Amino acid sequence: MSGLMQDWPLTLDRILEHAQRWHGDREIVTRSIEGPITRCGYADIHRRARQMSNALLDLGIRPGERVATLAFNTSRHLEAWYAIMGAGGVCHTLNPRLFIEQLVYIVNHAQDQVLLADTVCVPLLRAILPRCPGVRQVILLTDEAHMPADFEALAYESWIGRYGADCKWGGFSEESPAGLCYTSGTTGEPKGVMYSHRSNYLHMLLSVMPDILGISARDTVLAIVPMFHANAWGLAFAVPAVGARFVLPGACLDGASVYELLEKESVTIAAGVPTVWQGLLQHVEREGLRFSSLRRIICGGSACPESLLRAYQQRYGIEVRHAWGMTEMSPIGTLNPPASLDELALKPGRVPCGIDMTLVDDDGRPVPFDGRTFGRLKVRGHSVVRRYFRREDEELLDADGYFDTGDIATIDPAGFLQITDRAKDVIKSGGEWISSIEIENAAVAHAKAALAAVVGVPDAKWGERPLLLVQLKSGVTATPQEFLQHLEGRIPRWWMPATVEFVEAIPLGATGKVDKKVLRAQRAEAAEAGSKVDVAAGPSPGKLR
Ligand code: AMP
Repeated sequence: MSGLMQDWPLTLDRILEHAQRWHGDREIVTRSIEGPITRCGYADIHRRARQMSNALLDLGIRPGERVATLAFNTSRHLEAWYAIMGAGGVCHTLNPRLFIEQLVYIVNHAQDQVLLADTVCVPLLRAILPRCPGVRQVILLTDEAHMPADFEALAYESWIGRYGADCKWGGFSEESPAGLCYTSGTTGEPKGVMYSHRSNYLHMLLSVMPDILGISARDTVLAIVPMFHANAWGLAFAVPAVGARFVLPGACLDGASVYELLEKESVTIAAGVPTVWQGLLQHVEREGLRFSSLRRIICGGSACPESLLRAYQQRYGIEVRHAWGMTEMSPIGTLNPPASLDELALKPGRVPCGIDMTLVDDDGRPVPFDGRTFGRLKVRGHSVVRRYFRREDEELLDADGYFDTGDIATIDPAGFLQITDRAKDVIKSGGEWISSIEIENAAVAHAKAALAAVVGVPDAKWGERPLLLVQLKSGVTATPQEFLQHLEGRIPRWWMPATVEFVEAIPLGATGKVDKKVLRAQRAEAAEAGSKVDVAAGPSPGKLR
């Protein structure tokens, strides 16, 4: 016997149907790629998305086929998501910051049929399209007036303008595929995570909970996290679902542009990676500015340094919610709402209902939740990956249905997670694990540091020792000793970096995180050339445990 409730498949078209019916005039504000700020309502997004669905169906897109986007956060991109998913297609978000080789691989692997792109991505398209024969049609997300002269593509506005808004959405199983996002691929080939309508719908319900994003119809939400990064943290579903005002920053994510949008549009909640908050903070401090409407920042994607938390929360009275997640989790894993503005959310927090996690040692044995013992973090839940796309014969889950995140973490007795490293970044010294993230967080709290990164370097005695690389703020100088002194008492003595080096720029990956793969390659290259630039050896490391 089944329950006796209505059959209401959890498909994503229902979210925009809801938003247009009950919050139709609620504004979506975009810093357009063309430059000006544009405004429309959920009813407009809904109408135009349905026009686009008709246009896609006319192009022959069938259920489950992939339509790619190569675009920044704009209302047109939002329309595209709903148009593709509503018509039963799969919206494949491509990250324009990836290397050409990676993009070519991903487009071909995903078998993308149609590609919608911002005009600023035309140089990239010129490089990748000749090597992506499966792409049948390219559409530029602009109007005729802004089309580049010598590029073969349709202009979005005139393309959808040829179609009516009468279109049947949904009507398929909630298990149907809806979105596709490839992981940043720090090891091996990028892997595709295929979200279903159901997984994204349930993730939306999970994400709006008060202790998670905690957004409501009264909020104005700025999505700085790009729509091509990790399912846009689910914001493209959560914000319309609650009828909040939505602000989309286009391609301008520098401190000054973000600040201008925050203030002019009276943003109350904004979400992005730590590097964005770092850039905004530097701008605000340099110009002596204040925040008048912003009350909460969601900071995730990589570890949020304590100095950043402290600055926003204690200096500006803005609540910082530290989040952990990954593309494979749609992406929310844990969040940490501080109990009050006096309390810093140093750890990225606890899981919401719908996600379960565990820690195991190298032999797969459970590790105690004592806040001290490191273990491999494994997760399961309704919005966690089961298999990678077109790698269906690869078993990802263990016998209990857990997915190994590749992160090393501790969990304390109250259930608060602390990520100590990616498994491949953890430093093994004298048989013990050293957390590169904790050293980085402590180092970046130094007033002269703009960015810090820690990698393991081979050591004859201890196996590996930490090397601290620092990118200084512009115009300042520092000595390695200053940094070593600063670290005293902030990290265990035996974690003290063997060496401190100052570098011009710490490489950031396609999603704004420190790219340790590139860092290691740069160092290996420098070592080979025998040219150790800017190297300054610090004192010998403290006595190891
Ligand atoms: P991605 O799928 O590109 O979003 O990358 C996910 C990975 O980013 C995770 O597995 C973590 O290694 C890292 N990450 C995300 N959030 C945090 C956080 N709050 N602290 C430390 N690492 C994080």
